[in-house]
Amino acid sequence: MTPELLATLHPDTLAVRQAMPRSAYGEHSEALYLTSSFVQPDAATAARRFAGEEEGYTYSRTSNPTVSSFERRLAALEGTESAIGTASGMSAILLMCMALLKAGDHVICSQSMFGSTLNLIGKELARFGVQSSFVAQTDATAWQAALRPETRLMFAETPTNPLTDLCDIQALADIAHAAGVFLAVDNCFASPALQQPAKLGADLVIHSGTKFLDGQGRVMAGAVCGPRALIDDKLAPLIRSAGMNLSPFNAWVVLKGMETLSLRVKAQSANALALAQWLEQQPQVARVYYPGLASHPQHDLAMRQQSGLGGAVLSFDVRANSPEEGRTRAFHVIDHTQVCSITANLGDTKTTITHPASTSHGRLTEAQRQAAGLGQGLIRVAVGLEHIDDLKADLARGLDTL
Ligand SMILES: *Cc1c(COP(=O)(O)O)cnc(C)c1O
Repeated sequence: MTPELLATLHPDTLAVRQAMPRSAYGEHSEALYLTSSFVQPDAATAARRFAGEEEGYTYSRTSNPTVSSFERRLAALEGTESAIGTASGMSAILLMCMALLKAGDHVICSQSMFGSTLNLIGKELARFGVQSSFVAQTDATAWQAALRPETRLMFAETPTNPLTDLCDIQALADIAHAAGVFLAVDNCFASPALQQPAKLGADLVIHSGTKFLDGQGRVMAGAVCGPRALIDDKLAPLIRSAGMNLSPFNAWVVLKGMETLSLRVKAQSANALALAQWLEQQPQVARVYYPGLASHPQHDLAMRQQSGLGGAVLSFDVRANSPEEGRTRAFHVIDHTQVCSITANLGDTKTTITHPASTSHGRLTEAQRQAAGLGQGLIRVAVGLEHIDDLKADLARGLDTL
């Protein structure tokens, strides 16, 4: 396909068509190049390729055609010039931070970001002299107020896990760019099927391919998407030295997963909305957190920013008179499910159920959890593709016997 034709194609088409050209064998499904190195035609060509003077594959830590297909397809879905694959979502965040930051620089993050992200930036990078501030997810003025002369990066995640708080990407991009700072958005939860942060002004988009992009809970993968000047010129040379590269096998699995991303995310979002509406009617449920519900405080922003859909992840509080009772009751509901899987992964076609206060957020103190509004009675459900009636019945097993 010519670049002119590619520029006219819709995301649904690019999700199944954008890849490296076919090999000489004409394979219809994209080839898996499971090789660590590439044979060079002669010594002079090898020298030019290693020096970066000529295009051509040399070694899979630097690049690999299957990984290139993954990168092209994801960049097309995110609407960015370029993308680079990494071994996991966390290695994508590490790569971005190593490329953009040095000792003395300052990062602003939302305080309700993914737990390992908070740990990486707040603790591990602090050992290398990177300073950080953590602000309220939903309050753009708090991000503005946290800016310092040394601020280099604002890093947001929307919606968040597990309370589904949003941030207004466009508003944060305006604040970042007025201050000459990069805005990065972790787009794991909404995925490009619902939200393209780069189109709203984000400079970089982070992915855990482990979640919705794979969509079937099989492999670990990650990526950073953004302009060519950042990805190809700053991140690619660093990955070559630091080795957070994506395995070609994992790239191939996620490449095929992306072909059905939009169908899955839309169907799982429809299931999640139906389940959220049903949960709101249950007398044993105190509150439901889901951006697709009119009761969500940022429902209007969610509908504008996420293509009119709430996404596939919801949480709810079981009714209880104390934190101890909340925990006992949440465990009761979780343990009475027979269809849902008790596991912390999300973005899978199989519905997963967790108790955040004792798993993903178990390392926080009770005071930190209270501040985050994350109670002992909270249950998170990452909704899959099962029939909605089976999911309702599965949660009713525990709720009805409280
Ligand atoms: C899972 C996740 C990550 C980390 O991705 P891994 O592939 O597990 O390393 C980062 N951000 C969010 C929002 C996630 O859900």
